[in-house]
Amino acid sequence: MIKPLIAGNWKMHKTAGESLDFVRQLLTALGGPLDDRDVVIAPPFTALFPVAELLRGSGIGLAAQNVHDAAEGAFTGEISTRMLIDAGCSHVIIGHSERRTLFGEKNDFLNRKATAALSAGLRPIYCIGETLDEREGGRTFTVIERQVKEGLNKFNAGDIGRTVLAYEPVWAIGTGRTAAPTQAQEVHAFIRKMIEGDFGGRAAAAIPILYGGSVKPDNIDELMAQPDINGALVGGASLKVESFISIIRFKK
Ligand code: PEP
Repeated sequence: MIKPLIAGNWKMHKTAGESLDFVRQLLTALGGPLDDRDVVIAPPFTALFPVAELLRGSGIGLAAQNVHDAAEGAFTGEISTRMLIDAGCSHVIIGHSERRTLFGEKNDFLNRKATAALSAGLRPIYCIGETLDEREGGRTFTVIERQVKEGLNKFNAGDIGRTVLAYEPVWAIGTGRTAAPTQAQEVHAFIRKMIEGDFGGRAAAAIPILYGGSVKPDNIDELMAQPDINGALVGGASLKVESFISIIRFKK
């Protein structure tokens, strides 16, 4: 049984002060650690350190939204795994579609980032998903297969055991257009089958596969009712405490 995981990706929203206000309200509303579901938040880099202090003992994980694969060096504007660990991160989002489309990040680079994250002790939340053109052209499964194969290249079963996958159809991110639960389930089942083929049944039964793309309080229950959807990566609806809490409290 995979413990459900709800992760909030704040993208380029909220200063450190605003992030702290949010987390204080979240902790009060939750009223203590949850034992039947995991929660992770991904604030901007400048908020990581203070938010980590506030989250200590809460059971809520802290994710960065990006990382570089090199240990250190002349990479202006980038951040390393060691810096993220130092700031208190447990997770890192890798391969978000905005990184792929706006910043040209490709599967091989993303694979290096995920490998670096795992070696440093960070859990990658590895994002994959097809564009509208790819879906309408009947290429969804080919695209997903390639993103998974290349993204998890040279991983072993232990690496898979510490990886979280997030299926985020690009056409559903920030558009208000959610994949129908059955449409998402079809892709999640396909991904799990691939993991089974490459890493074995135990790895496939244990890897959390999150859905992302316009997840809201009013569609989370139906999504979470699908057998291969183990949680959600939430963008817009994670920016308000009320909507994020409603999503965290989805009904099983
Ligand atoms: C995301 O950014 O990962 C995302 C899914 O955004 P939204 O929930 O706003 O579609």
